[in-house]
Formats: sequence, structure tokens, C-alpha cells
Amino acid sequence: MSQYRTFTAADAVEYARQFGGVANPHTLVDSQEVGDGNLNLVFKIFDTAGVSRVIVKQALPYVRCVGESWPLTLDRARLEAEVLIEHGKFCPQHTVNILHYDPDLAVMVMEDLSDHAIWRSELVNGVEYPQAAGQLGEYLAQTLFHTSDFFQHPYQKKADVIRFTNPELCDITEELFFNEPYEIHERNAYPRALEPLAESLRDDEALRLAVGGLKHRFYCHAEALLHGDVHSGSIFVAEGCLKVIDAEFGFYGPMGFDIGSALGNLLISYCAAPGLLAPREAAAARENRLNDVREVWLSFSESFLALAAEKSRDRALAVPGYSREFLRKVWSDTIGYCGTELIRRTVGMSQVADIKNIKDEAMRVECVRQAIILGRSLILLADHVADPEALIARIRQNS
Ligand code: ADP
Ligand code: MG
Ligand code: MG
Ligand code: MG
Repeated sequence: MSQYRTFTAADAVEYARQFGGVANPHTLVDSQEVGDGNLNLVFKIFDTAGVSRVIVKQALPYVRCVGESWPLTLDRARLEAEVLIEHGKFCPQHTVNILHYDPDLAVMVMEDLSDHAIWRSELVNGVEYPQAAGQLGEYLAQTLFHTSDFFQHPYQKKADVIRFTNPELCDITEELFFNEPYEIHERNAYPRALEPLAESLRDDEALRLAVGGLKHRFYCHAEALLHGDVHSGSIFVAEGCLKVIDAEFGFYGPMGFDIGSALGNLLISYCAAPGLLAPREAAAARENRLNDVREVWLSFSESFLALAAEKSRDRALAVPGYSREFLRKVWSDTIGYCGTELIRRTVGMSQVADIKNIKDEAMRVECVRQAIILGRSLILLADHVADPEALIARIRQNS
């Protein structure tokens, strides 16, 4: 049994030689810690030609961006590796490949995606990947369907609910998504000029009720093994390719949470575009984000319905029409969780580059204002938006 120690750059190289599955392991000679992340160490391991060949990721016993004052379970490395391995069984084309992991060292070795780019960075720079939204919808359909009660044996599903119970990381989501933005809280990070708007969220009883419902379903609707953090910073893209990484928030939860997180980040990008790009590029980017929102949902729902028709193993859930009815509830959840993502990224602590990179202060405040107002109306209207066209009409009305 290995004992936990925080890896040095040399430890990471040694570990990659052992477990990286590289043909000539002695050619791995160097490493660099590249984690821009808020939580973990990420090492790129280079060969003698200076090419990055494999990734070593290790969890620290605390939240990296805060420090040792915020301890956090090392079990998240096991959870991340096991979620990615499970999703990889059903959607290998869009899930980063995990080569090895060790729960005691809280470390994993994975496929190097250095020839891809993080989707958020590309969106910030106005670089388009026309196939990404459809691929993301396909990833969501494959992973969510195959880990659900439609497909899993009831014993296996219940065992997996236990295996993927993730109280500490869920607690972070529960606080940051559903509590703090709707309270006076020191971690909130909205611009001072928007205090009246933030106050109006705190005072909005209908909004607080709807958010309570979303949080309650996050707690107890064990519909599928979620990624738990599907934002554009957890997605690598290249021409014609998309791969999802960073699943340490995974657990059994409501499908709409993953889909809504994805859509929420596309809509953050939509709101931020005028602050990041020249007017004509911004207008085009906004149209592309609306098309992405439609495409993620259509691709997800078409694939999900096809999988349900072909592969549902549960006889009652396989009754014709049931999967379509179920997706209506997933759609409402998706819109609600999308709204909470917009608000937690603007009012709450987890701010994103799309907003932070807007240089003009007044413009930044305007983009944030728009995102908050859009988030609020999506949460309030979640049960009353018929389909993606109605959603898009609603978004246009808002801006
Ligand atoms: P955290 O859990 O701390 O957020 P991430 O898994 O998001 O860590 O990784 C942080 C950064 O490390 C990514 O944004 C990316 O730049 C780099 N990275 C992570 N995984 C890979 C990979 N498989 N290939 C290449 N770079 C990676
Ligand atoms: Mg990350
Ligand atoms: Mg709590
Ligand atoms: Mg992470």
C-alpha cells in the first residue's frame, strides 16, 4: 500500500515512467506543473524531444486556490478516476482516457490532450468549433443514459450510487450553486455596482422557492452518474474532437444538472461576447452560442431517445413514450440548473475568464448584469419553456 505524499516534479516523472504506458519509459525525463486549476496538481510529463506525452494529476488534501485552511478529501481523486473510467466505457470518444490511478496517493495518470485546447479559452478568443455542441450532447446522452435505471441492473445501480457518493465535493456545489449567491456571503464576488440587483435576488421569494426545489433535486434525484462540473473549462476541443476531463464532482444526481451546467457556460459566453470581441464578431459569436444551446439539447435528446428505444433493460421504463415523458422533466431541470450556473458564476465565488477578461469596467458590469437577469428568469420560468426555440426566444428577449 502506498502512502500519501505530495508529488514533486521528479516524483511525477518517475510515476509516469511506471504507469504511463509509454513504450520507452526511460525517454520520459522532465515535467512541468501546469494546473491552472483551483484544486489539484497537474503535471505534464515530457520526453527527451521535449514533447508532452502523458499527464499526472494529484489531489492535494486542501483546496489549492484557498490553501490549507480549507481541507478537502483526497478521495476525490478516486472519484474522478472512477467516474471518468465509467463514462469512458460508454463514451470513449469524448472522455479522457485514464491509464492508471492510486486512491492512496490520490493520483491518476491520463491521456495527454496537449494537442487540444480548453473550450473556454477558445470561446474567449472567438475561435469556433462547429461540431463541439453536437458532440457534447452525444457525450451527455451516452454517459447519462448508460448509468441510469433505464440501462443499469437495479443492484448494480444501487451499488454505484454508494460507490460514487461524494459528500464533500457535493457540499461545495450545494453551497456555491444554491445558497451563497442568494445570501449576503463573504465569498460572493459580483461588482459593487450590482448590489441592488444582488439584493433583489435575496428578496425574491419565488426565486428562492425555485432554487430550493433545484437544490432538493440535486440532493436526492439519483438519476444518473453525473460528471458534476461540465463547464467549458472541463472540455478540451480540437478540430472535429471533444474530450471531457476533470470529473471529481461526479456523483449520482439529476441529469438536468450536467446539461444545465453545460448550457449555462455557453450562455455566459453569450453574455460576455460584447465585452470580449469586436461588435460584428460578437454578434456572430452570440448567434453561434444560441445555435450551440439548441444543438446540445437536440443532440442529447435524440441520442437519449434512440438509446432508450434500443437498449432500455427495465421493462417498465421501456414502455413506449415513457422516455419522452421523462425527458420533459429533464428539460425543465436543465433550464433551472442553467439559470443557477449563470448566477453562481457571476454573483458567487467561482468567476470565469469569459467575464474576468472583459477589460472595460462598465462593459463588464453590463455583461454580468445581463447574465444575472437571464439566470433569474430561467430559474423562474423553468417549467414554462416548451422547447429550445422557446428558450432561445426568451434569451433574445432578455438582451
Ligand atoms: P482541476 O481539477 O484542478 O480544475 P483540471 O483537471 O481542470 O484540474 O486541469 C487543470 C489544467 O491542467 C487544465 O485546464 C489543462 O490546462 C491541464 N490539463 C488537465 N488535464 C489535461 C490533459 N489530459 N491533457 C493536457 N492538459 C491537461
Ligand atoms: Mg478544472
Ligand atoms: Mg453545507
Ligand atoms: Mg477539478
